[in-house]
Order: sequence, then C-alpha cells, then structure tokens
Amino acid sequence: MQIFHDPRCTDYGGPGHPERPERIVRTVPLLKSRQGDWQWHEPRAAADEELLRAHSREHLARVANASQDFDLDTPAYSNIDFYARQSAGAAIEAARAAIGGNRAFSLMRPPGHHAMRDRAMGFCYFSNIAVATLDALAPANAADAGPQATTTATGKIERVAIWDFDAHHGNGTEALVAHNEKIMFASIHQYPGWPGTGTKSFANVLNFPIAPYPSRSNHVRAAEQALEKLLESKPQLLLVSAGFDAYKNDPITQMTLEPDDFATFGKWLSDVKIPTAAILEGGYSDDLPELIDAFLSSWDS
Ligand SMILES: [Zn+2]
Repeated sequence: MQIFHDPRCTDYGGPGHPERPERIVRTVPLLKSRQGDWQWHEPRAAADEELLRAHSREHLARVANASQDFDLDTPAYSNIDFYARQSAGAAIEAARAAIGGNRAFSLMRPPGHHAMRDRAMGFCYFSNIAVATLDALAPANAADAGPQATTTATGKIERVAIWDFDAHHGNGTEALVAHNEKIMFASIHQYPGWPGTGTKSFANVLNFPIAPYPSRSNHVRAAEQALEKLLESKPQLLLVSAGFDAYKNDPITQMTLEPDDFATFGKWLSDVKIPTAAILEGGYSDDLPELIDAFLSSWDS
C-alpha cells in the first residue's frame, strides 16, 4: 500500500469545525504503528494546468486570493490554496501509483467531492478526484502537465470509474464528470441530507440515495450494487471517494455503518483486478483512524 500524505495538511483549521486536523493527526501514527510495510510518500502540489481540467481560472484565482469565507462550511483559511493544491496533487499521485500497479491511498485534507467547477463548498476547494480522473485520461506527455509534474500520466487510460461511498452526495464530482463518456460515477449517500442532490441516475451517473437510519445490510448492498455497475463498464482505473461519515457514530450524518462494513468495502477492492486508488473525503467521528485502518488493511490483505 502506498500512502500519499503531507504532514502540513494538518496545519490549518477553525474552532469547532468538524473537518479538523485531528482527523489526520490521529490517523497517521495508528497506521504507521500497525502497518509497518506501507510506503509513505509526500505529494507535490497540483499545477494550474492540472486543476484547470476541472476548474475555471476564476476559481483558481478565488481560492488563491481567498479573503471571504466561501460559505459557512468552507472558510477562507490562510494559505488554503497551498493545502488544497497539495491535496489535489496527492490524488493525482495516488491515481498514477495505481496505474503503475500499486494500491494507493491519499491521506490528505481538505476533501474534494463537493467542489464545483467554479465554487468551493462543503469543506471542499478543489475536486481532488475529478482532477485525478482527468489527469489519468489526459494524453501521454501532455505538454500542459506543468513544471511541477514530476511524472506524466500513461496516456493509456480511456475509461475511469469513480465509486463514492462518502455519506454525502458527491455533487461536485457529478457536475464535473456528467456526460463524459470516458467516466462512470456512482455515489451512495444519505437522502434527505446535505447537499440535497443525488436522487436520480442519468447518463454516466448512478445515484443511490439512502434514507436516514437505514438497515446496515441495505446500505452495504447498495454500495455493492454501485461497485458492480461501475465494474460492468470495464474501467481501466477505479478511483474511490472514501468518506467514512456513513459510520453510525458520525456526528454530522444519520447513517448506521459499522467498522466491519468499511472492512467489507476494502475486501471488495482487494478482489478488483484493475488499478485502484482511494482518496479520503469525509469522516468526522473520533473513530476515523480505526475506520480508515479497517478499510485499508482489508483492501491490502
Ligand atoms: Zn461526507
């Protein structure tokens, strides 16, 4: 397992915000103590050219010069541009590591799956997973990879699937990949719930809304169906928006999954025969380190 992580991703935060440094600060030593053979890599920042595959130039400028909060959930932290670029860069590197034959996980913040082409929202500034997806699909030796790009995508990936099991609808990812024939996107999420979208499937988008307080088995079955449908599209790369906020003790959702269920998700990935990388999205309970370890160690077994 290759872990992409920059310790500086814990250097920002705001009082009382659920997307807090402790999520990562407490996960790192737990994984390092239990999983001695995993390899840790520091990511690079995503370059403008890479971010521009998913976002507008105006949005990049807005994040770079953030002075007013984007919304109540999404503050204009000092230097948020740096942290958001590192997180997007880690997603790119994790996807490339997967294409290179490794299991890979990006252990970073901020998360990304709510970020829109032109808007930061829901704790998210750049769409890490869409940026990684569009990088994987980019032609080899793309001249636009930018000076910070230390490697280039292979140019051999023509179909990518995105499996999003975060408890919130991946509305940003959906908006960024909808109607792209090279991408299939599936989201399993609480509905009704924030952001209030993701009730219908269409084109290349599969939505699995789950009512609050569901039976665990129904939720897990929906996640399995979503993954099966994605794999039927014969992707050459599977990227996972791994959010752990569908956990029963998560403070901001009303879902019921147990740690074992995240281990089950990891077990399914261990059976997938195509390159796979996962990117951390949400997960706000104090048990997050255990949930991440359950998922990753099962995947790696
Ligand atoms: Zn979430």
